[in-house]
Amino acid sequence: MRVLTMNLHAVRARIWAAAEAAGRPEPDLIAVSKTFPAADVRLLCQKSTQRDFGENYLQEFKEKSSELADIPDICWHIIGHIQSNKSRIAAERAHWVHTIDREKIVRRLSEQRPPEMPPLQVLIEVNIGGEDVKHGVPPQEESIRELAFQVASLPNLKLRGLMCVARLGSSEEELRQQFGRMNELLQYLQQQGLDVDTLSMGMSEDLETAVACGATQVRIGSAIFGQRSYSE
Ligand SMILES: *Cc1c(COP(=O)(O)O)cnc(C)c1O
Repeated sequence: MRVLTMNLHAVRARIWAAAEAAGRPEPDLIAVSKTFPAADVRLLCQKSTQRDFGENYLQEFKEKSSELADIPDICWHIIGHIQSNKSRIAAERAHWVHTIDREKIVRRLSEQRPPEMPPLQVLIEVNIGGEDVKHGVPPQEESIRELAFQVASLPNLKLRGLMCVARLGSSEEELRQQFGRMNELLQYLQQQGLDVDTLSMGMSEDLETAVACGATQVRIGSAIFGQRSYSE
């Protein structure tokens, strides 16, 4: 599947060009492998330096991470909503969770993280578009601050920053507003004395704008793996 490595290189070129144009450092690339087989992830690990992968569904993640357990330096990011009854698999196997949005999940992840493992790196998901359907904390300083300090008080979690998905169908201007606001919210947390450095934002369609607004991680699925089919 040479097309996978070609797609990966094309995405890296887009990221590089966007960072160059904005005069910003290049963000890390998380390859979002949801719905695609473990074999695709393995191939990218064999043919490239890509090691950060994102998954949305905990059951699928459980199977894939077992199948790929022999790749020592793979780094798994959970980027989908976590139901409380599925938190254990994230706590035991993931390196990052991008979708912290309520106290209950924070507590469970910290309790379930095996103490011999390094702290789980976590991001607070911000519902930046203020959408009813989406998960995440409302984009208000107070709500984010409260959850951030809860995370920071727990032993087995390490708060790294914020994550968002832009409102579907946003214009370029609307994307800039949402991603720009995320950047301000991260700076706000830093001003509150929190040691945070990560902004996870930007997907296949909007990565250039996210990079221009200061993304430090972009999450790219279809531009690397192809269109997803949810039929299975
Ligand atoms: C699926 C998904 C992505 C990747 O989306 P693409 O448009 O395929 O790049 C990124 N972030 C989240 C939260 C996702 O669910």
